[in-house]
Amino acid sequence: MKQSIEIINEACARHRNSVIAFSGGSDSIVLVDIIYRHTPHRPPLVFVDSGMEHPATQDFINKVALAYSAEVNIARPAKPYADQWAAQGWPMLGKLAARQWMQKHKGFGYKLDVSSCCRNMKISPGRKLTKQLGATLQFTGQRGEADDALRGLRALKDTATKYLEADKLTVCNPLQGWTDTMINRYKTENKLPRHPSWEEGAITIGCLYCGGGAQYTNSGFKILRHILPDKWREYIVGMKAGEIILSVKHNRPLDHIREAVEKLGGLDELANSRPWIFDYLSYPPLKGYTK
Ligand code: SF4
Repeated sequence: MKQSIEIINEACARHRNSVIAFSGGSDSIVLVDIIYRHTPHRPPLVFVDSGMEHPATQDFINKVALAYSAEVNIARPAKPYADQWAAQGWPMLGKLAARQWMQKHKGFGYKLDVSSCCRNMKISPGRKLTKQLGATLQFTGQRGEADDALRGLRALKDTATKYLEADKLTVCNPLQGWTDTMINRYKTENKLPRHPSWEEGAITIGCLYCGGGAQYTNSGFKILRHILPDKWREYIVGMKAGEIILSVKHNRPLDHIREAVEKLGGLDELANSRPWIFDYLSYPPLKGYTK
């Protein structure tokens, strides 16, 4: 923790105004706690509401902000998530895996793109609001390698504090290098608040409809089906995500899947009679995914 505090103090010495990118997840709560309880700095929180948040998230964000007497600001993306997916691709498989999948499936009738979704629905709105608030520094709870393989590779060449030319903003990751064990220990020892969805069985406090990892045994689609069945149905049947899931899983173009679904009685019927067929993007699901 000493190193994290040094990183925070050094960054704040160079920037008059900063914010904390706050998602409500474990890492960002640890970061808020360290900054507010162990440093004199009081950056406001910036939360990005992608439109896909857990129904309890907004209350939870307010509760945390109140506990630390922190100002909280809400950013929103420029377009609805459905428009984002139609234009650039559905958020499924993961950043690298979606890119590789697209190279081999160009004529499948839809696109997958996790990077653009995250950029447009989360990252850019947060950075835009950060600058509108007059801040030149954004703290995030990203942990590098322990967080995500691609981020880990970037962390090898990046320092914890980095100026992003494209965004004209400095981003600082004071928790870089923290492991899951360190985060969990810190949360327990300091009795940090927990988002209610952990108790329901969620594995991440992120977008409800994110399929970036839905090829693994702990797929977010399966968890969504169990914890928020109405939201799951809206996604699978209402937005027809079920067709995309089956197309990826069975490696068949969208047209073929639609024909097959029609013959079996339609998406609604399948969601009633065999809901588990929409749980994973691969069958059998892959093992070993821990995030
Ligand atoms: S977490 Fe998933 S759904 Fe949410 S913005 Fe990122 S890619 Fe999109």
